[in-house]
Amino acid sequence: MQYYDEIKWCESCRSYVNFLLSLKGSYCIECGSEVFLFSKEDMRDFRKSLQEDKDKSPMRRAMKKRASNKKG
Ligand SMILES: [Zn+2]
Repeated sequence: MQYYDEIKWCESCRSYVNFLLSLKGSYCIECGSEVFLFSKEDMRDFRKSLQEDKDKSPMRRAMKKRASNKKG
């Protein structure tokens, strides 16, 4: 199996680890536990930053514009 340079969060190791990609999900190469994109702490920060960016992000405005052009 192949693993990537990317790392994900392993709850069991309490750290970011290399992981194996399988059909069912991603697993820590150290302990075999399922790994996550972010730790809980980082996920909270990530969500918070999304919330804060929501109104002032020019990217968001551009996406909205593009969406309104789409027919459907
Ligand atoms: Zn692990």
